Amino acid sequence: MTRTALVTGGSRGIGAAIAVALKDADYKVAANYAGNDEAAQKFTADTGIKTYKWSVADYDACEAGIKQVEADLGPIDVLVNNAGITRDAPFHKMTRDQWREVMETNLNGVFNMTHPLWNGMRERKFGRIITISSINGQKGQFAQANYSAAKAGDIGFTKALAQEGARAGITVNAICPGYIATDMVMAVPEKVRESIIAQIPVGRLGEAAEIARCVVFLSSDDAGFITGSTITANGGQYFV
Ligand code: NDP
Repeated sequence: MTRTALVTGGSRGIGAAIAVALKDADYKVAANYAGNDEAAQKFTADTGIKTYKWSVADYDACEAGIKQVEADLGPIDVLVNNAGITRDAPFHKMTRDQWREVMETNLNGVFNMTHPLWNGMRERKFGRIITISSINGQKGQFAQANYSAAKAGDIGFTKALAQEGARAGITVNAICPGYIATDMVMAVPEKVRESIIAQIPVGRLGEAAEIARCVVFLSSDDAGFITGSTITANGGQYFV
């Protein structure tokens, strides 16, 4: 049986690597994105994976987008909540918009995507919800009160929902990547990036494909006994 997976923020970075890895593992895959049409078109041309544009911050748009994906590919078995943004600022300079935008995408977006899919997964007695949180949701990070709060919220959401999904064959897990070489991290000034690498015991940034392999495992039948857990993949930078 070929299962269907939907990856939010699946057109670039970690999400793109996840979408490709799931396709390589024989899933039917849809990749959602927010607005960068050029990157999405290039991704589809390179991989053959269809992309769908909507914002995870908009509940109605999520419902409509999910309906479209299910009409095209069939019921969604695996949801990867990967879409995320940063709006960094030290707290004394953080604006209400910076706080709100990060919460709406990184935390509300996870609710907005999971909620419309939940009943279908319960009825079919199978589901995999995998949310990409962050090391900074585990340990907190200077100038990221918004991001750290949202990503910590994703972990709480995962632990709570795992309990509700367990009897229905739905597993709910989170992955906390450390620093991964994507646009988000490469946008950080080089000096700051060098100081980040100096704090990673393995001495390098992670690769998006390394996170993607965790997702493929958590999606599989082999991972059916793993729920409510967090895979920490950060090169030894922080132990929970
Ligand atoms: P990128 O900035 O490289 O890519 C982000 C993706 O998310 C893009 O596809 C973007 O679409 C999409 N996106 C952003 N906002 C929305 C939205 N409102 N609705 C739908 N899609 C949206 O990010 P990364 O690959 O670096 O990060 C992926 C996830 O991993 C994020 O949740 C991030 O917080 C987390 N993470 C990343 C780490 C890292 O080191 N890179 C470390 C730990 C966690 P578009 O192209 O249209 O803008």
